[in-house]
Amino acid sequence: MDENAPAPTAVSERISTSDIREANVAALCTLLRENGDMTRADLGRASGLTRPTVMAVVKRLLAQGWVTEPGEIRVPAGGGRPGSLLRFRAGARVLGAVRFRAGALETVLVDLTGTVVARSVAARPAEDAPWTALTEAVVRQLTELRAAHPEAGPLAALALGLPGSVDRVHGRWSRPRRDGWQDLPVGPRLSELLGVPVGVVNIVAAALIGSVTREPVPPASACLVYVGAGVGCATAVRGKLVDGATGSAGELGHCRLPGLTTVCRCGRVGCLETVTSAGHLRRQYSRLAGGDPGATLADIERHTGGGLPEVVDEAADRLALAASWLVNTINPAVVYLGGNPFTDASTLFVDRFAGALREYAYPPDADGLAVRAVNSEATLSGVVHVAGELLPPFLRPALRLAH
Ligand SMILES: [Zn+2]
Repeated sequence: MDENAPAPTAVSERISTSDIREANVAALCTLLRENGDMTRADLGRASGLTRPTVMAVVKRLLAQGWVTEPGEIRVPAGGGRPGSLLRFRAGARVLGAVRFRAGALETVLVDLTGTVVARSVAARPAEDAPWTALTEAVVRQLTELRAAHPEAGPLAALALGLPGSVDRVHGRWSRPRRDGWQDLPVGPRLSELLGVPVGVVNIVAAALIGSVTREPVPPASACLVYVGAGVGCATAVRGKLVDGATGSAGELGHCRLPGLTTVCRCGRVGCLETVTSAGHLRRQYSRLAGGDPGATLADIERHTGGGLPEVVDEAADRLALAASWLVNTINPAVVYLGGNPFTDASTLFVDRFAGALREYAYPPDADGLAVRAVNSEATLSGVVHVAGELLPPFLRPALRLAH
């Protein structure tokens, strides 16, 4: 006998009646979600379940509020008894997604079709506040949002998109440059306060998840370059997000380039983000051009009147150079640029980045390398996706955020 062969699965592994009941619930919910309204007879035919089983499961789904009976009757095309239609209730539960933004927390409630049913932006707690002020602010914002939208169903799960190091498995968060903000149990604490499962994800990783899952055919290997207050990247290889040993994979902005002299917020000199971050580009451009160009790269592009100012052009080039090391290392099918409001609607910067990346990456001028701009809604979409993963698969919303 081959001693390397895997151990056989225990044949006595029992499948309980509650497992079967759950599987039947999942099967009928999935049919109603995929096909729209159906009668009990339709469900029986499509699922292969017996009539008494369908009757029992539907009774349970109606009692639990997953399904409604709008009172419409369908007569079968080929004759037979008319039946009352059943409809999956997309609003039976909502998912919450919270995105950490500059000075603010953006919260959305999404129904089980992925449609945003409520959205609000509130000020973030002060930087010197204790970390629990953040969890309290999230609970307060959710409470206010639900009070303003009483039609939204109960919260089923929540996810937070956060900067810094995130341990997705244990729901813990660390901010490397803040004393005492290491390994904070943000997920477990919120789960205790809200009584629902809570997931956490790095904001750049969320942008990549959102970008990949919006594709008609999601690429298995992809990376995303993110330019905001900091500069980072996220990578997925063969469908798996790369978190790293301590959850801080993707610190592209703290890779050092020769010839730079500015001290980075990490305390070192020469980091990529000292010449490519949103703050640097805004400051440099307004100093050179005079006046305030606005908040985003698209504003700067408009202000310049169709050309890229040198400082921005140089930043796109340096970012592409850094990204080319990433591309040559992991060989992604797609490189996304964006996910932060700063890069939303930018065209010239994205084109410059894409052109330089194709030039620097190997093989040179690779036509097979797709470079795509994504907007900051992709990030929110990624946070929603993480919240959805906390639900049983048959209840997960569509991955695309609808409006
Ligand atoms: Zn740095």
